[in-house]
Amino acid sequence: MILDTSKYLGKCVCGREHELRTKLVVCEYGALKNFDKYMADCGLTGFRTVIYDTNTYNLPSITHVPADQEIVLEAKGLHSEKGLIENMMTILERTPDYIVVVGGGTLMDFGRYSAWKLGIPFVAIPTIVSSDGFTADICSIIIDGQKKSIPMQAADAVICDMDVVSGAPMFLSIAGVQDIMAKYVSIADWKIAHLVSGEYFCPMVCDMAQEALDIMVRCANELAEGKEPDFEAMAYTQMLSGLTMQILSNSRAASGAEHLVAHLVEMKPRGFENAHGMHGECVGIGTIMCASAYHKLAERETIEVKPFEPVDEQWVRDVFGELADGILKENENDVLKTFAPENIKEKWPQIREIIATIPKAEELIELYTKIGAKHSLEELGIDESVREEFLDISSAIRNRLTLARMTRLIVK
Ligand SMILES: [Zn+2]
Ligand SMILES: [Zn+2]
Repeated sequence: MILDTSKYLGKCVCGREHELRTKLVVCEYGALKNFDKYMADCGLTGFRTVIYDTNTYNLPSITHVPADQEIVLEAKGLHSEKGLIENMMTILERTPDYIVVVGGGTLMDFGRYSAWKLGIPFVAIPTIVSSDGFTADICSIIIDGQKKSIPMQAADAVICDMDVVSGAPMFLSIAGVQDIMAKYVSIADWKIAHLVSGEYFCPMVCDMAQEALDIMVRCANELAEGKEPDFEAMAYTQMLSGLTMQILSNSRAASGAEHLVAHLVEMKPRGFENAHGMHGECVGIGTIMCASAYHKLAERETIEVKPFEPVDEQWVRDVFGELADGILKENENDVLKTFAPENIKEKWPQIREIIATIPKAEELIELYTKIGAKHSLEELGIDESVREEFLDISSAIRNRLTLARMTRLIVK
């Protein structure tokens, strides 16, 4: 699949003028054999520095693309940290005209950060595609000991050679399936938020997210039937998802209440003390829990609403311990204050229709079981007690309008 992203550019029905730095996305077997042609198509010429780590350099399936300078970083202990990246920049023979990075998410941040710092383009050659970061512009980097996710620079081109990518371990691909299937909830959350609060919504971007979801659901069902994985289509969904983030400059279309489980697993509040798991696995569990809670809400034909009240400080302190101050700060300008609670009541019939597009939790569990994906709290070391409070806990950590968060305005 070759995706010319120009079709997403320019004046949109949403009223905005959309921009994308990424011009070309290729997901094809043998794509690296045509690498020079793709670079020419994107107008990338001149001194080319190619960055690998010792693992990606030695992959049997890799085609080493021509380079004016090759840098091979020691894979052991490699992590995305400002000091390490700046060290790497000292071994550049000269300021390249563009940087090419061959690797996974961590190595991408080396390319992304240094290209941004030098004001030059970078090109991504992913060696695994189980996340949607390759076409996004977010750099996850440790600065002064703190992990930050900062919008920096998107790749000018992402060239994904399926001969390389399809060799990645299957459990990574399965986690990637769960990350994209989370869009059942994230799309619903975005539509509901738009309906209730008038929050910005772009139908074109929503369609891109929906397309990624539809294709991944087809791929997941094929896996469940025992068919060969369609790696090309699976990679394409991740690329589309990342592009939605690049267009919106945020993750609205890709990340709703379900995604917050991944953050909770990192933050380790009450009930998550022993939690662990890959990003996709965590959001997979989040998708199941949201599906279950949302469908339970939708059983009610009508609802009653109550006036806004700030999140309860004592509860936050009990659940989040030493993280509480940060959580309280996040909730200072609560998005729930920005619209009349009656809107939820008024739009309830449409909200129920949107919830109906999410599969039932049992259906998700059945599919995840068949494809060998994680599907229980126990597997991720999350305490069962969280189930009851899940919507409250997860929605407290990010001030984004989701149906989960709106439950604070709905009479129980
Ligand atoms: Zn738009
Ligand atoms: Zn995700």
